[in-house]
Amino acid sequence: MTFVVHGLPVARGIAIGRAVLVVSSRIDVAHYFIKPEQIEAEIDRVRIARNAVAEELLKLQANVALMGPNDAPHELAALLEVHQMLLQDEVLTGGVKHWIVERLYNAEWALTTQLEVVARQFDEMEDEYLRERKADLEQVVERLLHRMKGTAAVLAPTPPRRKRTADEDDHHDLIAGDAFDAPLVLIAHDLSPADMLQFKKSVFAGFVTDVGGRTSHTAIIARSMDIPAVVGARSASQLVRQDDWVIIDGDAGVMIVDPSPIILAEYGFKQRQGDLERGRLSRLRHKPAVTLDGQRVDLLANIEMPEDTIGAVKAGAVGVGLFRSEFLFMGREAHNLARLPDEEEQYQAYRRAVDGMKGMPVTIRTIDVGADKPLDGKQQREDYHLNPALGLRAIRWSLADPAMFLTQLRAILRAAAHGEIHLLIPMLAHVSEIRQTLSLIDFARAELDNRGAVHGNVKLGAMIEIPAAALTLKTFLKYFDFLSIGTNDLIQYTLAIDRADESVAHLYDPAHPAVLRLVAETIAECRRQGKGVSVCGEMAGDVVFTRLLLGLGLRSFSMHPSQILAVKQEVLRADTSKLEAWAQEVLESENPAAALVRT
Ligand code: PEP
Ligand code: MG
Repeated sequence: MTFVVHGLPVARGIAIGRAVLVVSSRIDVAHYFIKPEQIEAEIDRVRIARNAVAEELLKLQANVALMGPNDAPHELAALLEVHQMLLQDEVLTGGVKHWIVERLYNAEWALTTQLEVVARQFDEMEDEYLRERKADLEQVVERLLHRMKGTAAVLAPTPPRRKRTADEDDHHDLIAGDAFDAPLVLIAHDLSPADMLQFKKSVFAGFVTDVGGRTSHTAIIARSMDIPAVVGARSASQLVRQDDWVIIDGDAGVMIVDPSPIILAEYGFKQRQGDLERGRLSRLRHKPAVTLDGQRVDLLANIEMPEDTIGAVKAGAVGVGLFRSEFLFMGREAHNLARLPDEEEQYQAYRRAVDGMKGMPVTIRTIDVGADKPLDGKQQREDYHLNPALGLRAIRWSLADPAMFLTQLRAILRAAAHGEIHLLIPMLAHVSEIRQTLSLIDFARAELDNRGAVHGNVKLGAMIEIPAAALTLKTFLKYFDFLSIGTNDLIQYTLAIDRADESVAHLYDPAHPAVLRLVAETIAECRRQGKGVSVCGEMAGDVVFTRLLLGLGLRSFSMHPSQILAVKQEVLRADTSKLEAWAQEVLESENPAAALVRT
């Protein structure tokens, strides 16, 4: 039966495919496709792990039998017996085999997928004792996963998925079609930004999460992946079953489960329209972004990893306006890496970004962890709500750990010897923080000099993302060469709305008069003083705001590469000489959102 789940639109486009449910705690399990000739070997990996776990349990059972009732309660023996039964259960073993053979999932993915299926069945049981056996099943699967560690064959490259034909899109036989061909969409309760990074290189064509706001960092990464996504869909992960057919409409922020043939045909059509529109926009790639009245506009890229520069250059970005360097620091423990990247590792990463931009400037923002970007997603996810946006994040974090900060600063200064780097500091509010930061930058330079290490000059910038900063611009401009407006946080802190909380997402309003006034004043003051200013929050990539920002005098926009061409189209159609007066009217309006739509 078809039903619709509503959430928040995050990344545009339509995805049609089968649901893959992933539990947060097992998100770091590898997801990849094997080749058909690897099926037997993959089934063998599960069999070998199962035999090893069975033996492990037998040993435990033998030990328990030797202990007296005081050392090992009777329940323990019974529990181990249950684990043995679950391990051999045909529903688990047969199901795992099914995902490997029919879908070419790697063994770990097949195992966690089947765990999801069986766990649902346990949840639905009337008998409380049986319901509670879900935890035992989870433990058994954990043992199996542990045993399989290190036994995977070399990661198989993801096989290319056959593109569906127009006919297939139009007909319900899509649902009956060859399972190998179907795109996969990821459904999860929650994903941390570090989890999202893993999925950047993965097989999924779209995703939906139960929680999250439109500018949460999870949503931001989804946008950078340029695949349809919906967040804040509340109970989506409860309502959808493994392998259900779903449509994700990233423009409307909805997920349609088990769509009827008519709905499928309609969305297949929409999907093709989207492809056509992208094709049309791609013709603008090499066109300079100049308005009708001859104003040149810099369209820059926001990136998370040095390799993202490839997409940035392809999209026609004229530089990187925001390299969120914290992504180099996140989720490392899951990959058995040192907790923090050392100076050399960071230097190499920044250098790769500089080289990737082929002589264009790269703005590197110093680490901004904390709030909804924990350093280690797994460890701190439970503490999420105890770690609010008002706490120790961004520059506060860096100043609290000068050794870590100096390491980063040295790496950036060294990379600056290879190209134009702008150094951007997040979340400053106090002049004392500014002074402390600047003296640490001087100190990092002196350390490099003492070592005789080569380093380069950088332009220094501050992010304006706290109202206190936007209200003390003169102080900021005294110390910095340029400012970059982080509207995501500026909105959050101006309106007192947690940007990651879907329950207040309706109040997160980029067009609130107070927000627009702070943005307008920052642009105006920088222009008055002849200093550079850009917007690097999500507002810069939202075409709804392009003309307004141009009218307010902005000439530098930084966004995900996937948004550049649509914004360029707006720039090419704009006449800033006519937009200035209109922008002031919008600013004065009680309801700017309506004024924006009217014109
Ligand atoms: C912002 O706050 O607008 C910004 C660009 O930084 P981040 O989204 O990483 O907090
Ligand atoms: Mg920010």
